[in-house]
Amino acid sequence: MKNADKTSRVLRGIHHYLIYFALVAFVVTCCMLLFLNTLSQNLGIAFTEENLQAAAKVTFANVVLLSLLFTVIDFVRRKLTVERPVKEVQKVLEQLKSGNFNARIDLAALHDLQNQFGVIAEDINALAEELSGVETLRTDFIANVSHELKTPLSVMQNYGIMLCQPELSEEKRLEYAGAVIDASRRLADLITNILKLSKLENQQIYPKAEEYDLSEQLCQCLLQFETVWEQKNLQIETALDDGVTVCADAELLCLVWNNLLSNAFKFTPEGGTVSVSLRADDTYVTVSVSDTGCGMSPEVGAHIFEKFYQGDTSHAAQGNGLGLALVKRVVDILHGNLGVESAPGKGSTFTVTLRRFPCA
Ligand code: ADP
Repeated sequence: MKNADKTSRVLRGIHHYLIYFALVAFVVTCCMLLFLNTLSQNLGIAFTEENLQAAAKVTFANVVLLSLLFTVIDFVRRKLTVERPVKEVQKVLEQLKSGNFNARIDLAALHDLQNQFGVIAEDINALAEELSGVETLRTDFIANVSHELKTPLSVMQNYGIMLCQPELSEEKRLEYAGAVIDASRRLADLITNILKLSKLENQQIYPKAEEYDLSEQLCQCLLQFETVWEQKNLQIETALDDGVTVCADAELLCLVWNNLLSNAFKFTPEGGTVSVSLRADDTYVTVSVSDTGCGMSPEVGAHIFEKFYQGDTSHAAQGNGLGLALVKRVVDILHGNLGVESAPGKGSTFTVTLRRFPCA
């Protein structure tokens, strides 16, 4: 069916070409006769009808032949410079459409053409690169979520089985039940963080900007960790400018401070120090959370904003690697700046800079 279609298309093409050639040849022949007629009148030469017929036939045949020759040249040119790259582009687009994001157009093959196809091919390759990156992120994300979900679930399953043992001492029963509760809390935290991140990434939460007291918010966030710093005997240092107001989404910023503070407390060993500072001028506020904890190597620091990345696995059970990804996303949404300074064994400082009144 496809072949028959192609043949009839080719035949129709040839038919159109022939009509076109005949028409061009006819017009040129008429012009030629008109020219000869004028010439004969002006020079006083009398052409016989045979002379005119012969000239007309030769002109007609010449025009048809020349048109044919140019058409063949044009056909070959189009095949090489238009149809070949279009076919190549089409082939790769088909592959991309069917989900093969590794397909790329062979730029070397199109390079000699020096026309717009090279630019289009480069753009399509860039698009394919972007798509394959997104696909890798998606599959990595699914693999990470599945792994993170599986860990607490299998803890719950194992302790659940152990809880079913008859003649279990009261002490063991409480221990196993505690482990199940811990694992379920981790699971709930994980799901909450995934949902928050997904909402932020899809821009379903739009910042509800309102003017509020940032100094007070930081104090409240810090106080939530009172039991932690008492248990670990940590020093708390604060240098907060008083009554600093900002115009921002308070809920989103609370997420930032809580995550930075919880990391500072988590990664600082007993007897260490956690410091929080707030500085403001007319345009910007700068909040820093510092600790004298384990710090990070530059290799770890390069990945900390990636989803599910945990550089320090000794505290893996107390987090899920989403905290800093959330912080980064919120700071980006608010068009702020997030900086980190850290050295292994010396501690870390996270600094957030935001415009005070972006809505003004
Ligand atoms: P998690 O909830 O697992 O801590 P985060 O996204 O908050 O995940 O942090 C990612 C990684 O960044 C941590 O596993 C840790 O290696 C590193 N990190 C974050 N904050 C600090 C800090 N204050 N001190 C040292 N390392 C940190």
